[in-house]
Amino acid sequence: MSASIPSTLRDLRACKICSLIKTLDQFDNEGCDNCDEFLHLKGNRDRVFDCTSSNFDGMIAMMDPSDSWVAKWQRVDHFVRGMYAISVSGELPDAIKRMLREKDMPYRTRDMSQRT
Ligand SMILES: [Zn+2]
Repeated sequence: MSASIPSTLRDLRACKICSLIKTLDQFDNEGCDNCDEFLHLKGNRDRVFDCTSSNFDGMIAMMDPSDSWVAKWQRVDHFVRGMYAISVSGELPDAIKRMLREKDMPYRTRDMSQRT
């Protein structure tokens, strides 16, 4: 199992659903490792812009999601190894939220900035 690590520190974006951090090109070329099954970011740059955000706070490396306090704290223990944002700003488009609801995917906002 390989880790999904940003190839560069420029043009980084974080997935609004799982908070995985990669570059714009990586999201465009590979999709989101956790969400692409239903999100289909791969090759769809418009959707990459909709579903990822360049406005995020904090970066944590998660190398062993099954045994990581970070994973438990972020509730991402079933996700791939990689870099994750602590907080991702920006709303998902309503159409995407609706789709997640229809697929019975629980969506919790990754935007922690408005919680205080
Ligand atoms: Zn994702």
